[in-house]
Amino acid sequence: YTKGNFLQIDILEKVNNFYKGELYKNNFALKYLKDRGLFDSTIEKFQLGYAPDSIKQFKFFKDANLNKKELISLGVLSENGEYPRLIERITFPIFSQSGKIIAFGGRTITNHPAKYINFTNTKIFNKSKTFYGFNFAREHILRKKEMIIVEGYMDVIMLHQAGVENAVATLGTALTPEHLPIIQKLKPKVIVAYDSDSAGINAALKASKLLYSKFFEGSVCLFPEGLDPADVVKRGEDLEKYFKETIPFDTFIIEYTIKKYDIKNPLQKKAAIDELREYIATLDEILKEDFALKASRYLQISPQKLTSKSKPHTQNIN
Ligand code: ATP
Ligand code: MN
Ligand code: MN
Ligand code: MN
Repeated sequence: YTKGNFLQIDILEKVNNFYKGELYKNNFALKYLKDRGLFDSTIEKFQLGYAPDSIKQFKFFKDANLNKKELISLGVLSENGEYPRLIERITFPIFSQSGKIIAFGGRTITNHPAKYINFTNTKIFNKSKTFYGFNFAREHILRKKEMIIVEGYMDVIMLHQAGVENAVATLGTALTPEHLPIIQKLKPKVIVAYDSDSAGINAALKASKLLYSKFFEGSVCLFPEGLDPADVVKRGEDLEKYFKETIPFDTFIIEYTIKKYDIKNPLQKKAAIDELREYIATLDEILKEDFALKASRYLQISPQKLTSKSKPHTQNIN
């Protein structure tokens, strides 16, 4: 970071200290977190806070002498500077890899239709390059040579509280190739543990395809229907059970792609083959053969049908 950015991070630290203080002035917000199962020590570790109403926030910004333009450029205030981005929400500071605050996310506790609001990208925050919780998880990822990717803030927080400290989240965004340089050197095994709903399964399919194609070893963890990792921790269930029975990326990709089709129907079987072939075409030669062989067994076809180019339906008239 340049010297300028250091100062800006300092502003976010000040804002965070204000939000942290506000949490203890708001019994409703504090009770919300306790009801979700968070311990005091967890609230402190993740530095959760509460963004109060707009008037209180502007009073703080003024008293603390914080520059309005800076607050806008850091995402604390809306583009036009008229209102704080997070109002009457639980605040989750988002940390850089070295533990500096680079942005915030906020959750409503009053059923506001936008459940979460995250900062948009700023000059110090790029959400496609950030894993929430990585600063806490890094040493555990190194030691275990394994990383768990979940969907949200609460999943990371609850897993860490339950002793699963190698968990990180992509925040309201898919796993992207831009995330991968962060873990390219560590090359951990990756467990994708998204929500067990259709959005989560589709996202897990995309993440598996990306990770497998980039030679990451790993698997997908499936929870009981409708639950996410935070729910499983809250229920006091044995997490080990789930993390032991994960589905390797290649198997998951094949099974869950095929599952989308009724392969007893020849037309649908062809569609499934086409979808897998399209993915296989993007794979490195080494992976290609292995994956095609495996998939061909599921479909009871020859592996060549998955690696050859799709034949056009129309006759070539040249
Ligand atoms: P909670 O347990 O607090 O209800 P969750 O993490 O289970 O939240 P999901 O709906 O599963 O909520 O969303 C996963 C993540 O996606 C959230 O933690 C948040 O980072 C992001 N997200 C969810 N809703 C929104 C939204 N409306 N806008 C932006 N990001 C969102
Ligand atoms: Mn979800
Ligand atoms: Mn969820
Ligand atoms: Mn949840």
